[in-house]
Amino acid sequence: MEELKKQLIELLKDQQLIFGDDLFENINLDIYEKPKKELAIKFVQDETIEKNKELNLIGLTLEEFQKAENLEELNSLISNCQLCPLGKTRNKFVFGVGNPNANAMLIGEAPGADEDLQGEPFVGRAGKLLTDILKAINFTRDEVYIANILKCRPPGNRDPLPSEMETCMPYLLKQIELIKPKVILCLGRIAANGLLNKKLTLSALRENVYDFYGIKVVVTYHPAALLRNPNWKKGCWEDVKKFRKLYDELTA
Ligand code: SF4
Repeated sequence: MEELKKQLIELLKDQQLIFGDDLFENINLDIYEKPKKELAIKFVQDETIEKNKELNLIGLTLEEFQKAENLEELNSLISNCQLCPLGKTRNKFVFGVGNPNANAMLIGEAPGADEDLQGEPFVGRAGKLLTDILKAINFTRDEVYIANILKCRPPGNRDPLPSEMETCMPYLLKQIELIKPKVILCLGRIAANGLLNKKLTLSALRENVYDFYGIKVVVTYHPAALLRNPNWKKGCWEDVKKFRKLYDELTA
């Protein structure tokens, strides 16, 4: 019975991935209903700074981490973060991994169980598939930078809450500011809608190349979804070829 329930949840997640949230009632999309925030990479909004000063649970304000001059410094400033409830339930803080000067960056939604244990994004089966996908377009993991919107695992691999994404997003933006990638590949609908502040289905998101403060953004499937639905690999292949082509054009 428990196994059947698990399978049903995975099936519904996959349907949601393809068709979006319209199939679902009772889902909190507050973050997407808000007017588009000016997520300037250089500056976070004063309002957010004030909010987080109030939530200054670890003696760190957003202003302080904004001063980090490199990824190492940023990591050490934020790795004890407790600004949302996930700080209490994580095993390991998952900052990101790869080339700090990468021209290509990959962004997922949140750490899963393996990532939470190892402190590295995209490990385990989905991580291995991502490594293979990268290899197929002539990238090694060391060449690119891989990170998630959330740095801590949502319990039970549930979807990140809008409030968690909103709280954690400034860290990712600071990472992007420091790395200065030319092209970003978003892995999955949640990561793409989160980064681009949109409310689209994965099919719609995959149709376009987006401009994120001058950085080109391509969207494809999350590798965990590809493991459940190998039929989607063909579509993913088209997406990553587009990603590689853009990278080649922008770095020529
Ligand atoms: S998920 Fe982000 S905001 Fe929440 S505790 Fe972890 S690092 Fe902090």
